[in-house]
Order: sequence, then structure tokens, then C-alpha cells
Amino acid sequence: MLRRTKILATLGPASDKPGVLEALFEAGIDVVRMNFSHGIAQDHIDRAAAVRALSKKTGRLVGILCDLQGPKIRIAKFKDTKVWLDEGQAFALDINLAAEAGNTEEVGITYEPLAQEVQTGSRLLLDDGRIVLDVVSTNGKRIECTVHVGGYLSNNKGINLQGGGLSAAALTEKDKEDIKTIGVIGADFVAVSFPRCAEDLHEARRLLEAEDCYAGIVSKVERAEAIEAMDEIILASDVVMVARGDLGVEIGDANLPAVQKKLISRSRDLNRAVITATQMMESMIENPIPTRAEVFDIANAVHDGTDAVMLSAETASGNYPVQAVKAMANICQETEKQRSVRESKHRLDHQFSRIDEAISMSAMYLANHSNVNGIATLTESGSTALWMSRISSGIPIYAFSSHKKTLGRVTIYRGVFPVYFTHESMDHVNVNNEILAKLKKRGLAKKGDTFIITKGDLTGEEGGTNALKVVVLGEGLTP
Ligand code: PEP
Repeated sequence: MLRRTKILATLGPASDKPGVLEALFEAGIDVVRMNFSHGIAQDHIDRAAAVRALSKKTGRLVGILCDLQGPKIRIAKFKDTKVWLDEGQAFALDINLAAEAGNTEEVGITYEPLAQEVQTGSRLLLDDGRIVLDVVSTNGKRIECTVHVGGYLSNNKGINLQGGGLSAAALTEKDKEDIKTIGVIGADFVAVSFPRCAEDLHEARRLLEAEDCYAGIVSKVERAEAIEAMDEIILASDVVMVARGDLGVEIGDANLPAVQKKLISRSRDLNRAVITATQMMESMIENPIPTRAEVFDIANAVHDGTDAVMLSAETASGNYPVQAVKAMANICQETEKQRSVRESKHRLDHQFSRIDEAISMSAMYLANHSNVNGIATLTESGSTALWMSRISSGIPIYAFSSHKKTLGRVTIYRGVFPVYFTHESMDHVNVNNEILAKLKKRGLAKKGDTFIITKGDLTGEEGGTNALKVVVLGEGLTP
């Protein structure tokens, strides 16, 4: 049984070690993530080239997702790298303090408007909420605080405002520069960090298109405001990421499970793919096996209907990157065996205005209610594969396309597997035969198997799917 839930692995020093990327491919990664918060442009260009070369060598297309840093707000540095803060002591954040002059009483900040955007009583969360500061007063340049939760605080740690509300634009000057590198890479997906509204995502799309890059836009939902604008953010994205790290800090960890479930189900309802991210296998940075809680977390995300699960430091800098992917793959596959994961009541009462969408839904109904081994959809843009993959099912969906962009895009859709295919000047019988022959050659079909094929009369026309055919392998085909 093919695993339907896709695995995203973040690349970094751990995956750069000799043989590790090859082992990650073999362990089953579907998409790699390049984190533009770290490294220089050339690191990302080199990694993308290595992924492309391996995809070619292994015949296994792995998508490339470039993740923009966005407006992450940070403290500056300390004279001694880190300080200890006691609960109840005074501590200040000061925009005028020299970048490396921090001490136990004060530290600089990188985001100038912060001192104007907080008020007495605001709560600041530093280092993913490990340190909590309560604002006592601000004069527009310096924020006087009391330490609510103390501990070690070290250089460049992130700052979040509890409840959100900071005005920082989603795309920084650095992001705009990085978009040029992403244009050179020709990424399949670009993740926008900290979007507040649809316009932040439209702007990223416009900037990418100016670089001749038509990557799928991934909105990282990690601000409280993005939850309030959930539908508009989802509709402006191709893929949604539940970015549980920063989101948990802003809205409080206890609110995360409900928000994750809502984001996944809303994204599916609105025909968008969705990634569940951050700390899925956190303990595997140091250990060769996951905790039981991590096993349950992944299984729950699969039950919720996520398209993909993501590894961050586990594969970028952890000690057990390959084991983390193998464990994740195993948990997804075991969870997918549950009947409830394969059943769908999605859009049963829906009216479709498009014939290609209605055919996609009909294919899934047929697949889920009869003895079918797989679905092959001939697709120009990937839309039919996306619609099909919104329906819970155990039947694999093979997206046949001649377009690189489409093949890259479907790598993230749950239960969809890309197959390169050209069929210009082939008649319909030949197209069917070629599709089945390709599947057979890859060991994905055998004599006697039943397949659903969806396609259009005209090749090269987006939205042209107008036919659904059921064929049995090895039993003479008719047009
Ligand atoms: C997150 O905050 O959950 C996230 C995915 O973003 P990053 O890893 O870039 O901080």
C-alpha cells in the first residue's frame, strides 16, 4: 500500500552530510524545505541542484519548497552571549542600545516600532515562550518590563506579542532579495511567513511572477490575525501550513489543537492542500525513536486529513534525520490503514458548476464504492488531482502530466503521485494503453487490475476533462 500522507523534510547541515540526502529519498521524503532563515543564497541553490539531480537519478520526483524568513522580531546580542533572568526582576528592551551590549538589565531589539506597538500590561514571549516579560511602561524607544517567567536568555532570540497585533509587513527587504534566488531555483512552492491577510500572499505571488516563478504559495499561519482572516488567507494560498511554533506562542499552546483541526478541515473544504508543521518529532533531534506523544500527534494529523507532515530541525540539524523520516512514514502508513481515515462524507450535498470538478468527484465516488485499484488523471494544471485528493480514500491517484510545474505541485497532495507523460497525437485507445503500461512498468498495476482514467478530448486545454473511463488491465480496450 502506498503511503498517502506526504513528508516534508527541512534541509540543513545534517542532510548535507555525505549519503544523507540519498537516504532521505529512500526513506520516503516527498518535498524538501529550504529554510531561508538560515544560510546564504548559494547554500539553497546547491541543495536544490542536489535534490533535482537525485530526483532525476532515482526517477522519484521530490518537490522543492523555499520558506521565506519573514518579519521575525528578535532581541539583539549580549556582551556574554547569554544572561540569566530572575522572576520578578526588571529588564528592558531598548532600540538605542548597541547591538552587542546586552546585559542582565537590558538588551537591544531589531524591530524599531515594537516600543510603539506595546502598552503597559502587554505580555512579550521570548525564545518561543520560554521567557515571559510583562510590559510596565514604554516611551516609544525603550520598553521597561518585569520578568514573569525567568531563565537563560541568549543572543538573537525571537519575540512574540501574546495575542498578536504587531504591524510588521509579511515581506521584508531580505525576503524580496530571497525571492530573486527562488526564481533562480525555480521552486515548486514558496512559503510566506507571518501573513496577516490575503494581500500579503498576493504580493508574494506578484513578486515571484516578476521573476518568472509560478510556485505554489504556502501561507504559514502563525499570527493571531491570520486565524481571524482564515478563509481569505486560505483562498489566497495554494497550500496552507499550520505553523505551530510561532502560532502556539501567539495564541497559547492550549488553543493549538482546535485551531489545527479547523485549519485542516477548512483548507480541505476550500480545495486547498495543508501541511502540519513543527515539533512533530522534536525528541528525535537527540534520540533514535520518537515519544509516544509524537506518534499520537502525527497519527492525529493524519486522522484530521492533513496532506503533509513536516520535519524541521529533526532533518536539518538533528542526529537522526533518516530515522525520523522512516518513523514518520511508518506512523502515517499504519494510521492510513484505519477505515475511518479512508471514508469521506466531503461535499456530498454540493452542486458543481464545472464539469471537470464533477468528473473528479464522480471518479472518487466510484473508486470508494467499487473494486478499483487506482485512478489515473490526465491533468494540465493539477486541478483534477487536487479535487480528487480532497476526498478521503484508500485508492491511489496518479497525476499524469507533461508539465514540470504540475508534477512538482502535486507532490504535496495527499494520495497523489506524479507521473511524467506526453500523449500528443495519440488516439484515445493508445492513451489508455500507454497509461496502463506506464503504471505496470513501475510495478503499480498488474493484469486484472481495474483503473479509472479521467481525461479530456483535447490535449493541452486546462479545465477540459470531460471523460471518465473504467478499464481492466489486460482485457482489450475500446475507445
Ligand atoms: C513555525 O513557526 O511553526 C514554523 C514552521 O516557522 P519557522 O520554522 O520558520 O519558525
